Amino acid sequence: VAIEIVDETGSTNADLLARAPGLAGPVLLVARSQTAGRGRAGRSWQSAPDASLTFSLAWKFDRALPQLVGLPLAAGVAIADALHACGVDARLKWPNDVLLDERKLAGILIETAAARDGIWAIIGIGINLALPPALAERIGATAAALPQLAAAPDDLLAALLNALARALTEFGDAGLAPFTQRWNALHAWAGQQVRVLDHGQVRQQGAAVGIDDSGRLLIDSADGRVAVLSGDVSLRRT
Ligand code: ATP
Repeated sequence: VAIEIVDETGSTNADLLARAPGLAGPVLLVARSQTAGRGRAGRSWQSAPDASLTFSLAWKFDRALPQLVGLPLAAGVAIADALHACGVDARLKWPNDVLLDERKLAGILIETAAARDGIWAIIGIGINLALPPALAERIGATAAALPQLAAAPDDLLAALLNALARALTEFGDAGLAPFTQRWNALHAWAGQQVRVLDHGQVRQQGAAVGIDDSGRLLIDSADGRVAVLSGDVSLRRT
């Protein structure tokens, strides 16, 4: 993996997405400061220099993967494993968040670009190393930061890159199935009452069970067990 570190950019995902057609191999792009971080569906990812770890990894899969929708889940497992190795008890919220003590510690945004012989996935990750007041104010009370005694940012980045590279190789070979059990073991809201919001409308509600091998969230609703595809839906606790 080629590693690039820049002082400042708008969005590491946007940069790698634009470069993807010309990339010769995997690239990790780290930004010391990211000024226009993105979330899903046009939402934004807030960060501040020295308080945030923001980076994207461009990774090419040799064939179009039917299960690409499961990639944020596999990446989530890799991130949680790396955080655990650094002493942080991270949990996962479907489909793309990493929580600490019920609040959002990290976000994952995956975007794709077609390649001649496969597909580029740009895996963008933002982690709160700290929450200085100005940053916390922009996000609200829903964010968490790494505990102060956790690993140094460089060590964390190395652990994350190693875990991600391993996970992406495995995902390319075998899809989401090898990650399903582990994801469910890390599931922050297992057994809890949730609702699935689609553009603000409640689409499903019930007890969150976990994910299936295609990455759908299983919910025990009043009508029985239903499976929800991620798309642009958000999950809330009730
Ligand atoms: P939701 O969090 O509403 O369920 P989501 O998980 O899809 O949606 P993303 O689009 O992945 O969210 O991330 C963007 C959202 O994350 C923002 O709308 C904001 O609520 C939150 N957010 C933005 N920056 C941070 C940050 N540094 N730490 C924690 N949360 C953040």
